[in-house]
Amino acid sequence: MMRQYDLVERVKRYDPGADEALLNRAYVYAMVAHGSQKRASGDPFLAHPLEVAAILTELRVDAATIVAAVLHDTVEDTAATLEEINRIFGTEIGSLVDGLTKIKRLDLVSRQAAQGENFRKLLLAVAEDLRVLLVKLADRLHNMRTLGFMPADKRRRIAQETLDIYAPLAGRMGIQEMRDELEDLAFRNINAEAYGTISERLRELGARNVSLVEEVESALKAKLATSGVPAEVVGRRKTPYSIWRKMERKSIAFEQLSDVYGFRLIVGTVDECYRGLGIVHTAWPAVPGRFKDYISNPKQNDYASLHTTVIGPRSQRVELQIRTRGMEEVAEYGIAAHPLYKDGASGLASESRAYQWLRRTVDLLAEGDSPEEFLEHTKLELFHDQVFCFTPNGRLIALPRGGNAIDFAYAVHTDVGNSAVGAKINGRMAPLFNELQNGDEVEIVRADGQAPPAAWESLVVTGKARAAIRRATKASTRRQYAGLGRQILERAFERAAKPFSDEKLRGALPRLARASIDDVLAAVGRGEMFSGDVVRGVYPDYVERRGEADAGRAATARSNKTGSGPDALPIRGIDPDLAVRFAPDGGAVPGDRIVGILTPGQGVTIYPIQSRALADFDNDPERWIDVRWDVEAGAGRRFPARLALHSINEPGSLAQIAQVIADHDGNIENISMHRRTPDFTEVTVDLSVFDLKHLTAIVSELRAKPAVNRVERVTG
Ligand code: MN
Repeated sequence: MMRQYDLVERVKRYDPGADEALLNRAYVYAMVAHGSQKRASGDPFLAHPLEVAAILTELRVDAATIVAAVLHDTVEDTAATLEEINRIFGTEIGSLVDGLTKIKRLDLVSRQAAQGENFRKLLLAVAEDLRVLLVKLADRLHNMRTLGFMPADKRRRIAQETLDIYAPLAGRMGIQEMRDELEDLAFRNINAEAYGTISERLRELGARNVSLVEEVESALKAKLATSGVPAEVVGRRKTPYSIWRKMERKSIAFEQLSDVYGFRLIVGTVDECYRGLGIVHTAWPAVPGRFKDYISNPKQNDYASLHTTVIGPRSQRVELQIRTRGMEEVAEYGIAAHPLYKDGASGLASESRAYQWLRRTVDLLAEGDSPEEFLEHTKLELFHDQVFCFTPNGRLIALPRGGNAIDFAYAVHTDVGNSAVGAKINGRMAPLFNELQNGDEVEIVRADGQAPPAAWESLVVTGKARAAIRRATKASTRRQYAGLGRQILERAFERAAKPFSDEKLRGALPRLARASIDDVLAAVGRGEMFSGDVVRGVYPDYVERRGEADAGRAATARSNKTGSGPDALPIRGIDPDLAVRFAPDGGAVPGDRIVGILTPGQGVTIYPIQSRALADFDNDPERWIDVRWDVEAGAGRRFPARLALHSINEPGSLAQIAQVIADHDGNIENISMHRRTPDFTEVTVDLSVFDLKHLTAIVSELRAKPAVNRVERVTG
């Protein structure tokens, strides 16, 4: 275990002015607080916070962060209190420890809803002060390093959470090495087999190619030195996880991976980066499409470098990153390389793009998306790397990888997104949903009076676009319902022989308990409010004549809009002015639990609640209408139902089936047969029955017949 003076020395090495007494106080305080507590490994618990602090010294964070790391588990796991820590170490450290205590209990891989909510809490806690996030990441890294001592199910859970949340967060904060290690440790725990195979292959390949790596290294060094750009060359092997991801993403085998080895060239100045690139490209042919300039367009986490791939010595593909020492520090320490992360609220922090991302994400929280939606967006944005595109005016728009012109349009402005009808990508008309590539220039073609199609929602990858599309389609659906509601009301007032106008409706708003005319119209259109109630709301002393009362109250809907004829379906809960029909495949019978689906302009379709077709309307809760059977009105009538049977292929099978249905006074409307195998035929029977009890009796009798192998109700 690390000694007290070790810790102080590690900090002093990069921060000679650090408060030694403070560090010593923290060490002793944690030692006393944790006492004889042990970790699952059997080590003294104190070893954990000290290792976490040690990880952070590698990022060269300030003494307050180190102290918070040493204390990070005291409030949650020992008798120590926040008040005491505030008193002894001051409120700056106290609030760091408080943030860490708050997120300690968050379970980020629980049920989707709770996961979203917990992730929100996590981000809110770390947004107060980014140092909380740094300590949390170091805490997770040490826990991952010592995960082997945990029971298997817990191990998996923690590893999944690490892969889903913490590794991407470390990447987003620019702490690449930490991200790599977190991913690799998680991968090893989640998919031990794949991890083992890839590691083994890497070892073999490494053993075979020792000389190649050395050859490339010295060739690069020599070329650059003779051209006057002295560079440090570092060979870099990819991690098993990054190789796995590449294999998964491109569906290729290990053998097909061409660039397992990469090299980093570290030079003195930005100018030397570009000169070095020129030298490399002159010496060896560049692989087309692999050059990326993250110096003129740094990543969102401030990462800057030139990337290229060349066909190097021995015709091997060699991946190169060229950067300055300063860029190397940002790549290594990420957000911790900025001396600015101390105070989230201070203007200085705005220097860091990683911090800006966190701010924006936290702002998204305030927009009131549901936690699940929020998680979905954030996760997507965490996982995707980004692409950089430009408006015709040269404005840079950064999108998550996979983003398309619709995302682009909404990133420019919500109005641009809502009115987009096409896109010119690099001067050519292209489909809106084409995935954009780095450097694409995108011009959005707009038309007024457009509403984005609801289907766009599933085509975009940015949270901003998705939320805006949802808002716009909601507004347009509402307009449709209001239009339908107006038609219904006009007819209802006409039937009551009462004048109808917006003015009259406005006067009745308090009685109808609605805030606006549009609210009333939409409610009627959606079937939430009956037209008869609105007529009475406007003319309180209006008394319906008998026929109308029946139509209004019993809500006996009709299959046409002109009168309640004998064909009216005995369903309650639907405005009498709406057309009602059964779902086309299978129908419904009294006794079924049913639901109505409203289609503006077409009326209401009745589905049994178990119908699979209902899944299509999951995203339109406003179209669902509560309905129920009108038992009295339906008495003695027949209703459509469909059965699917497997019948054994032998003479007389079909006759047996028909006989059962006839014996039970069921009407066969239609029979179709489809021979599946030499032994069985699939028979679909459309029949009409009085109710569910009637249908169930027929089904159980059919099941008892030797010629019938299987009977299922079909409900669309
Ligand atoms: Mn801990």
